[in-house]
Amino acid sequence: MALLSRLGLYLLLAGFGLWLSTLTLNEFTLTPTLISSHLKPEHQATLGVRLQPLVQKTFQSGWEFTCAFDTVLNNLNNEYRTAQQWDKVIYDEYSFALTKAAASGPLKQQPWLWFGLTFGLVIVGALLFILPALIQLAGNKNNGIFQDASTNRGWIAKGIGAFLILFYITLYYYPQYLANWTMLVDPISRALNGAEASRWFLYGFIYTVCVLVMGVRMAIKYRHNRYQQVRTASVVFFQTAVAFLLPEILVSLNKPYFDFKNIWPLDYDFFFDYNLNSLLQSGNLGIFMLVWGIVLFVVGVPILTYFFGKRWYCSWVCGCGGLAETLGDPYRQLSDKSLAAWKIERYLIHAVLGAAVVMTAMVLYTYFSGSSTVLFIDSYSVRSLYGFWIGGIFAGVVGTGLYPMMGNRVWCRFGCPLAAYLGMWQRKKSRFRITTNGGQCISCGNCSTYCEMGIDVRAYAQRGQDIVRSSCVGCGICSAVCPRGVLNLENASENSRVMVAPEVLLGNK
Ligand code: SF4
Ligand code: SF4
Repeated sequence: MALLSRLGLYLLLAGFGLWLSTLTLNEFTLTPTLISSHLKPEHQATLGVRLQPLVQKTFQSGWEFTCAFDTVLNNLNNEYRTAQQWDKVIYDEYSFALTKAAASGPLKQQPWLWFGLTFGLVIVGALLFILPALIQLAGNKNNGIFQDASTNRGWIAKGIGAFLILFYITLYYYPQYLANWTMLVDPISRALNGAEASRWFLYGFIYTVCVLVMGVRMAIKYRHNRYQQVRTASVVFFQTAVAFLLPEILVSLNKPYFDFKNIWPLDYDFFFDYNLNSLLQSGNLGIFMLVWGIVLFVVGVPILTYFFGKRWYCSWVCGCGGLAETLGDPYRQLSDKSLAAWKIERYLIHAVLGAAVVMTAMVLYTYFSGSSTVLFIDSYSVRSLYGFWIGGIFAGVVGTGLYPMMGNRVWCRFGCPLAAYLGMWQRKKSRFRITTNGGQCISCGNCSTYCEMGIDVRAYAQRGQDIVRSSCVGCGICSAVCPRGVLNLENASENSRVMVAPEVLLGNK
């Protein structure tokens, strides 16, 4: 079985290496037809003319082609800026579309073959690497987690973190350099929505594959624990069916792209004008989507959090939580348990919630009044600042890129405005708590070690005090790793929560 595992690792690494190498494949040739079909009419006489020196020239890599195209575009835009002709500056995302359209070569001709050699090998390799764990006795296995360079902030972890950060930055801000990777998933995109893959389709596909494959790992690792099995099945279902497949199918039916489980303010552009207009112009289904989004936030969150705590969303439904609980599981022990981190967490997450509320209020003011400024502040600048720093850098680059260094819930713990909102309800008005049978605790510290939200669970267990924390996502891992059965996730009367440590540790009540 060790052999099978090793073979899996080799296949995974081979597939990953081939995937990276596909960025160098294909040739790129710009033609007059591509210019006329991709540029807007008003840009044909300006950018179209400037691009003429590149026409019919063959570039050996997407990198070369993109650099040449961006140089032409940037030079033109700089001329406009120097002449203060702001209305002529071109912001359209031509670079990605033209790079993709100008490509010819193996990835275009044999996408399925290259899909198999890259994603296929990675998936098969990962499963072969994971499956041999099935023959081990069921039970908690975290052997060597603080000695392994991939899980103890060692060189492998640093490499993975650097790759993730680079990937997010390129995906968000320089997608043209990833055009080749989108060609690998073109056939799947066409099958689902009838169009070629965008960068967001590529991202959604990779995200879903990660949740699926690492979901298998979770299901095997915690096969002795029913709560973890059902919870893992839930996040896999919501990511695959609701977040990935359903929106693509809606698009293929000419309906708005809509993720039914994404809730404002996590879904921070829900109230943006383009989204509101798209929903309002999409008939009854669009109106239903709009009402659904508002009702989920106003009614769904308080009611469901009252009955089940924030775990109903953070650990069972949310896409960010889904990735954290599957791909991020090997890193949960890296969360900072210090009081200083708890303090930073409280300030930061509520500050982001405040920023989301203010930004959305400005967006709605602009939508209904038609005025783009609120108290002399441009609401469009505020929304793009929020999108860049919170939606892009914090949630993506930092939130996922720092999994291997700061644990798997960096975004959920320090930044997610929806988690802050859910947490307020959980702390103040909820039946959820983790009860602690304090008399049984042997202070081993497993629970604190593996709490991804940095909660010092042991401190509560030692005192026999219920854990009623706004940040607890109810993942249940503290309970799963406790060797003494001290911890129990429960929903009961909110008045029975033990908010002050009892004097005698003889159990909970
Ligand atoms: S306290 Fe337990 S259930 Fe809550 S987040 Fe930490 S490990 Fe998960
Ligand atoms: S894992 Fe269980 S026994 Fe160990 S410190 Fe936590 S509550 Fe106590």
